[in-house]
Amino acid sequence: TGELDGKVAVVTGGSRGIGAAIALRLAEHGADVVITYQHSADAAGTVVAAVEARGKRALAVRADSGDPTAVAEAVETAAAEFGRLDILVNNAGVGILGPLGSLAVADIDRALAVNVRAPLVAAQAATRHMGEAGRIISIGSCVGERTPGPGVALYALSKTALTGMTRGLARELGDRGITANVVHPGPVDTDMNPADGPGADHQRAGTALGRYARPAEIAATVAYLAGPDGSYVTGATIAVDGGWTA
Ligand code: NDP
Repeated sequence: TGELDGKVAVVTGGSRGIGAAIALRLAEHGADVVITYQHSADAAGTVVAAVEARGKRALAVRADSGDPTAVAEAVETAAAEFGRLDILVNNAGVGILGPLGSLAVADIDRALAVNVRAPLVAAQAATRHMGEAGRIISIGSCVGERTPGPGVALYALSKTALTGMTRGLARELGDRGITANVVHPGPVDTDMNPADGPGADHQRAGTALGRYARPAEIAATVAYLAGPDGSYVTGATIAVDGGWTA
């Protein structure tokens, strides 16, 4: 039996990359999993099939994290379909990079809507359903700890916001036994940041380990925080960055 048997998790942006790895890892530990996605219906279906192949229930809900109503409805759907809600993983994110002068107001609004507002709205909806031992885990970025150069002000702003939100959630929800934490990945090989993309060598060189992470290496820490062994960790920011901020 798995340590998350009987638990229900929502993972935003679970169709690809880090979110897909998190969904699979939580299912391997016994959780039923609801993922959200924006465009990739086929990829979302593949993740659902992979979770079901592990003997767990799964559901994919199309919900643009830029739309707060869609985010809240997706969380409500998860609780209604699977009868409870224990774990929220705020993973969906956009990496809008570029020099200050290139950022339109629409870019700023989009980054803040998807990376900041959606996690807070999802936490609001999820905590209506969570009982004792609820878990809120948000995926930040090592860029929220140290900025490597120009072009990341907006992205860093959006990821740093999760740290403040998480501390506030930890204080607000502690008396219900609910924990809230942020995981800060370093470079992870995904569509957003491929290990063979331009600038990849520079990112690799910035780590102590000299390599990118696999998505599963981020998922492992999320699963630890989601499980019983994570019970006394709250309000924390945990770097899983290969030493990028060391
Ligand atoms: P990918 O771009 O590879 O995958 C993003 C996932 O999120 C997809 O499933 C995508 O769904 C979904 N998604 C994107 N936008 C939305 C949206 N508006 N609404 C709903 N779902 C959405 O990203 P990664 O896996 O690399 O990144 C995941 C998280 O990790 C992000 O928050 C990112 O900022 C963070 N991160 C990533 C790092 C890296 O090096 N890769 C490093 C540090 C942090 P769909 O396919 O349907 O669009």
